[in-house]
Amino acid sequence: MIQELKPANSETLNVKWNKRPLIISGPCSAETEDQLLQTAQRLAATGQVDMLRAGIWKPRTRPGNFEGVGTKGLTWLMKAKSITGLLTTVEVATAKQVEDALHFDVDVLWIGARTTVNPFSVQEVADALRGVDIPVLIKNPINPDLELWGGAVERIEKTGIKKIGLIHRGFSSYGNTEYRNAPMWHLAIEMKRRNPGMLMLSDPSHICGRRDILLEIAQKAIDLDFDGLMLESHIDPDNAWSDAKQQITPEQLSELLGKIQWRDETANKKEFIIALEKLRDQINHLDDELMQLLSQRMKIADKIGEYKKNNNVTILQTNRWNEILGRAYIKGEQLGLSKEFITKYFDAVHLESINHQTKVFNS
Ligand code: PEP
Ligand code: MN
Repeated sequence: MIQELKPANSETLNVKWNKRPLIISGPCSAETEDQLLQTAQRLAATGQVDMLRAGIWKPRTRPGNFEGVGTKGLTWLMKAKSITGLLTTVEVATAKQVEDALHFDVDVLWIGARTTVNPFSVQEVADALRGVDIPVLIKNPINPDLELWGGAVERIEKTGIKKIGLIHRGFSSYGNTEYRNAPMWHLAIEMKRRNPGMLMLSDPSHICGRRDILLEIAQKAIDLDFDGLMLESHIDPDNAWSDAKQQITPEQLSELLGKIQWRDETANKKEFIIALEKLRDQINHLDDELMQLLSQRMKIADKIGEYKKNNNVTILQTNRWNEILGRAYIKGEQLGLSKEFITKYFDAVHLESINHQTKVFNS
């Protein structure tokens, strides 16, 4: 299916796509026409929102929950757009949903976390998009797997679509209580590194699953140089038909955005970069020194290995290892290093020492 976007649309779209920070907000789900229009109007009134989001088809973990209003919600979304001028975005997971969204002139599509995990579904969406010029945002898959996320990007890229963005919404992890979806920031940072220049948004709503830490997560994302935020907003959050605990009113959204310390693009940026470079230099020097010391430590381990070999003693001596770890915990605490870190660090060092000594034994 070939469908060109209307020129007026694409100009606003270009501007918004490149705006920093890019702010997307709206209810988890479109529920009623009145709810969506009111939310859109109150969001537009803040003057801080660029794009209206609304789930029309909702992928739910268990059947029987509200699964979205379906295609009729798209007419409400278009009404909201014509009243407020906000661009619109919806989640699509099937070819039919893509067709419907395009038919109703939705501006931007997004692929949800439950779809990104499934290459069959991503391919179905990609096939339905072939030859269509519409931006696509791709949420990270539910599980912490960057190959799946990257694979989804490749499938959409292959359709010829140029405007592709990423949304970091956190990853499912068993027994995790603080977050609904653990952020695992290092994965988002690695994804940014693999896709330089690609729009990267944060979705604190689905990371947090609750309201009280939304600001903290949003701020962290901005500090990590994310390009913008997708945050859920509802006129009556407590009574939302989906994701009630994490939604905030448009006015609360405005307050939250007002509290974020945005990156400074102006004059002191240069000073900041110079200061940062200096500190990074220091870190590089220290890392070099640490590696020199580790190398020396391994040489001593080699020597001990030789003594052990000549005297027929086993490599692993549990008492000695407990002694090392015990000392390290005490020292670590005095130096402000967490027990968790000390354990991981000494495990790694110990393993490397054993490998060195094994080599000596086998030589
Ligand atoms: C949503 O944005 O409402 C949604 C279903 O999100 P996710 O795909 O991140 O779970
Ligand atoms: Mn939601």
